[in-house]
Amino acid sequence: MTLLTFRFAPSPNGDLHLGHAYSALLNQRLAETAGGRLLLRIEDIDTTRCTPEFEAGIYRDLEWLGLEWERPVRRQSDHFAEYQAVLDRLVGEELVYPAFMSRGEIRAYIADSDKRGRDWPRDPDGVPLYPAMDKALPISERKRRIAENAPFAWRLDIEKAMARVSSDLSWTEFSDATLGARRRIEARPRDWGDVILARRDIPTSYHLAVVVDDALQGISQVVRGQDLFLATSVQRLLQDLLGLDQPAYFHHRLILGPDGRKLSKSLGDTGLAALRQAGASPDDVRRLVGL
Ligand code: GLU
Repeated sequence: MTLLTFRFAPSPNGDLHLGHAYSALLNQRLAETAGGRLLLRIEDIDTTRCTPEFEAGIYRDLEWLGLEWERPVRRQSDHFAEYQAVLDRLVGEELVYPAFMSRGEIRAYIADSDKRGRDWPRDPDGVPLYPAMDKALPISERKRRIAENAPFAWRLDIEKAMARVSSDLSWTEFSDATLGARRRIEARPRDWGDVILARRDIPTSYHLAVVVDDALQGISQVVRGQDLFLATSVQRLLQDLLGLDQPAYFHHRLILGPDGRKLSKSLGDTGLAALRQAGASPDDVRRLVGL
């Protein structure tokens, strides 16, 4: 039997809260039960929002909780060259295109189109899909803009990508917290439109870095919050395009705040450091998250 490999992959852009604690502890419990491995990955591609202080806070909080993980820890910002190489492949295969419109320009374009009475399509997060205009730019115009240092992001051409992959794109989802029952979920990456695969300032995006790392680290079980359930469609598509192994997934329940809403990193009173300072023990945290 192959060893199951789990990972907990926080972003050091704020303090860990009860939601992270649940995810980390659940990964730990499942890895232990399965006799598998647990890896920690620092997802810090957003170098403007991620800081060494938050990263140090992650280690402190997880150690306090009693989590153990393998070392060395993979820090995404140390691996931009690897993501660049994968991106170059997609550029070479013309599956991505340079997208020049800024957020403001997209908004203005869509507002204009709304005035013409059309409902602009949105992704599952409610973000308007990227207008198709840049895809139609002649190569010479693309080259001219890039030569002039116009900022751009690389976006996946979703239609070209879909034409390339197997028609039954789906993933395995475990449907309970013991990894007991499994079902196949149909991936619907078209719902997300032409997603960004490399941002203006960095040669990757969340989706690209996650699929590359999950494959490279041999992750067999992705256990993460329900808020990423729909994003799995995009990741499944990228795995197919890049010929990467696919993990099985378990998207767990979210820990909600007293107001019934998803916890955010600015909610100080559910932050692990704040709870610790207020005298809570790791067992209290387990109780609070129902583990
Ligand atoms: N880094 C992401 C976050 O902190 C999690 C990514 C994942 O588990 O796939 O929300």
